[in-house]
Amino acid sequence: MKAVVLREIGSEPMIEDVEPGELREGWVRLKVVRSALCYRDLLTIKGFFPQAKTPLVLGHEFTGEVVDSKSTRFRRGDRVVALPYTYCGRCEYCLTGRENLCRSREWYGEHLYGSHAEYIDVREESLVPIEGDIDPNYASIASCVVGMVINGLWQVGGVEEGDKVLVTGASGGVGIHALQVAKAFGAETIAVTRSEEKARFIETVKPDHILVGDDWHKEAKKLGGADIVIETVGEPTFQKSLRSLKWGGRMVVIGNVNVKPVELQLGLIILRQNMIAGDLSSTKKSLYKALQLYRKGLIRAVGTEMPLDRIGEALEKMEKGLSRGRIFLVPP
Ligand SMILES: [Zn+2]
Ligand SMILES: [Zn+2]
Repeated sequence: MKAVVLREIGSEPMIEDVEPGELREGWVRLKVVRSALCYRDLLTIKGFFPQAKTPLVLGHEFTGEVVDSKSTRFRRGDRVVALPYTYCGRCEYCLTGRENLCRSREWYGEHLYGSHAEYIDVREESLVPIEGDIDPNYASIASCVVGMVINGLWQVGGVEEGDKVLVTGASGGVGIHALQVAKAFGAETIAVTRSEEKARFIETVKPDHILVGDDWHKEAKKLGGADIVIETVGEPTFQKSLRSLKWGGRMVVIGNVNVKPVELQLGLIILRQNMIAGDLSSTKKSLYKALQLYRKGLIRAVGTEMPLDRIGEALEKMEKGLSRGRIFLVPP
């Protein structure tokens, strides 16, 4: 099968012919229908994740159809969405609905071969069946992206109807879907972006406010400040995000485009009783919610489809910030 292979950390991933191994007990083989590109792929290539052992097939945001099964729960022909990882199912995190924190977790595209390929082997625990019609682009990002944002906004951030939710990097793959999730939860949405051109793209998901330019944190304050900031950019926007919060507001950090530390004046968060929290991926619960919101017509996938063999170009577009929304790779 054709697959995007990373031969060595730091090298350019290439399309190669890979022989799928023997399917293990409790696993299924999927024909990949869509595999979305994530900033995490870039960080994996750069060596940010020590668990990534090369050679490796990249990719962890996918949907597909079961073509072979050694699972009692899934059969040939089943269509599925998947968590981007496997988990043990018996540790304190797994038993309390926080399988995203499981210490025995293994990621597709890092510990395990990933989905930028014609086929992927997936452990049954990771899978959720698809019922009814679904846009394959949406299905591929129902977990990492939509489920992840739901985990951050709902399970970590405790969003309530009427809250003001500010999203940085709002034209990006995470940002454009975070705005829709916030809206679906009844929030007033504030999109932050760098250019008028990106602002026009963001208008397609109808946020309540779009802030462009360097002084967006001051504009956010004029709007009353944010109850929750969804920080998808990380270090470059962190300080302004912090200053955009209301007294008592929460910042949920989802992404970080460069691996630099940030400075934090503790007085600022003490006197304003602000909270800063991380958000690591989706859970079964947030993935289920992502499918529910889709069926209600509250969220749609936004981005561009590209054939799998244009992976080099797709990665470059994402790294340079030239992609709008998600890039959905279509295998042959
Ligand atoms: Zn991802
Ligand atoms: Zn566990």
